[in-house]
Amino acid sequence: TVLADQIAAGEVVERPASVVKELVENAVDAHAKTIDVLVEEAGLKSIQVVDDGVGIADEDVEMAFSRHATSKITSREDLFRVHSLGFRGEALPSIASVADVWLKTATGKGAGSEVHIKGGEILTHTAAQSRPGTEVTVSDLFFNTPARLKYLKSPQTELANIVDIVDRLALGHPDVAFSLSHNGRELLRTAGRGDSQQVVAGIYGVQTARKMVAIENEDADFKLTGYVSLPELTRASRNYISILINGRYIKNYQLTKALIKGYGSKLMVGRYPIAVLNLTMDPFLVDVNVHPTKQEVRLSKEPELADLIDKAVYNRIARENL
Ligand code: ADP
Ligand code: MG
Repeated sequence: TVLADQIAAGEVVERPASVVKELVENAVDAHAKTIDVLVEEAGLKSIQVVDDGVGIADEDVEMAFSRHATSKITSREDLFRVHSLGFRGEALPSIASVADVWLKTATGKGAGSEVHIKGGEILTHTAAQSRPGTEVTVSDLFFNTPARLKYLKSPQTELANIVDIVDRLALGHPDVAFSLSHNGRELLRTAGRGDSQQVVAGIYGVQTARKMVAIENEDADFKLTGYVSLPELTRASRNYISILINGRYIKNYQLTKALIKGYGSKLMVGRYPIAVLNLTMDPFLVDVNVHPTKQEVRLSKEPELADLIDKAVYNRIARENL
């Protein structure tokens, strides 16, 4: 029901940045090579995500907007084997329940389709020619949930949240070419050539990227690649630390602590490195089903993973003679 979708939206769609996150994750799941994000007025006027992924077949397109209908989870074991970023089948229905949404999509086989949904009601569904891929345009966000509108922060803050989300998704997927523009101004562009350092340079600037060094480490369960700043390049906040597990941006206190520990006494108190840690592991070792927005995860073998990160950083940073 529309009401159930709105309740779910309360959890999944908190702010414009949550819409961006869900739409971009869907594009990544659709194996897009190029993802363009166009935002107007910090996402309050509109958010558009255009991808060149596999698209949605016309017969499935309405189902994509019905809650859990598309959930890929059929058994409890599946919860631990999630390979895609999405899996709850909640995002599109939630977004459509609190906004005006146009979705244009084509698979390359047969005619494409265009669907217009507002406040959870399908208004039109027509055939539309387009190249393979999907284009979702969300406007009038929270038009029917004024309380939620009231909780939004300033446009600058909402935009900063959007930039943050796209940055981290780009860091997690260096093989995908991302662009982000706000009111027609380009804020980020990555090449999609699989070169993480190029993504780091695109986000933090070329000068900063030059003061970052590659780290890597692996054991039987985990593989780590990443970039960390030299101890002289620090920030006053942990916000410049990005940890991605299987391409998903996560927050984890123990892993962040291990990263910092790897610097030993080389970091000044209250200063934090800029860092990007890309971790790959069997999805069996990660439980992402803790919260709908999926940023908190539970890890099996967390101490081992923390140790792997600590050692990778320590081995690299200890070599820098200061
Ligand atoms: P979930 O991602 O959890 O499966 P969503 O509500 O985000 O649920 O999306 C519903 C479904 O719609 C997806 O499972 C996918 O099949 C389809 N879909 C959504 N966005 C795209 C896209 N950009 N390209 C291809 N398919 C998409
Ligand atoms: Mg999704």
